[in-house]
Amino acid sequence: MSFPTTFAREPAQTAQAKPFILPFAAPPGPDTWLFGQMYGNTTGAYSNRRNFYAAGQGLHFGLDLSAPCGTEIVALGDGVVVGADGPWGSAPHNLLINHENGWMSMYGHLLETPKLKAGDRVRQGQVVALSGDPDSTCHSRPHLHLEIRDAKNTKFVNPINLIDADWDTLALVGQFGRGFERDLAAPRQWQTLYDQPDGLRGGPFLNEYHEPWPPAFPFR
Ligand SMILES: [Zn+2]
Repeated sequence: MSFPTTFAREPAQTAQAKPFILPFAAPPGPDTWLFGQMYGNTTGAYSNRRNFYAAGQGLHFGLDLSAPCGTEIVALGDGVVVGADGPWGSAPHNLLINHENGWMSMYGHLLETPKLKAGDRVRQGQVVALSGDPDSTCHSRPHLHLEIRDAKNTKFVNPINLIDADWDTLALVGQFGRGFERDLAAPRQWQTLYDQPDGLRGGPFLNEYHEPWPPAFPFR
């Protein structure tokens, strides 16, 4: 017997093609990399909104991808290096690439200063840096913090809307966050991978909730 072809095919993709690839050449897994923290209104960003994330309206304004120190990071797309170890956050080392399509990618918490300089051209998939650990220990929380910013460097956007990958499956394992912070006054707001606000540099907090869940802990 044969199956009707109308049942054998998934509906045609209507979404616009995403311009970027994942920042690792290796497939995800416990020995390579896993999706650690989502972009946006996460519980981790909420509790650190007034320190680490104040520049991006209290959002986690990138993705965290857990990986052992020294994992090779590849460029999301063709572009030109803006600089290495610039004033772009995510210590101890970082790299900013302008993709000349309206977007820049920023790779943070790197192991060492990338061996690239401003003006170098890179190709999509080219190794550009090695992943590190914000604490420089390589055992406390080694991960790549990956941001996508507009070309004017005024706005952070959700990378999963621009990087072609199976994000729904990636989000099932490996997370060190506890999902998204809830405002009980608007409990369905910003609760999915895809529905997250852009972050304007220096804009007001988006998550200064009156009825947060999980609850706020007192700031000193
Ligand atoms: Zn991060």
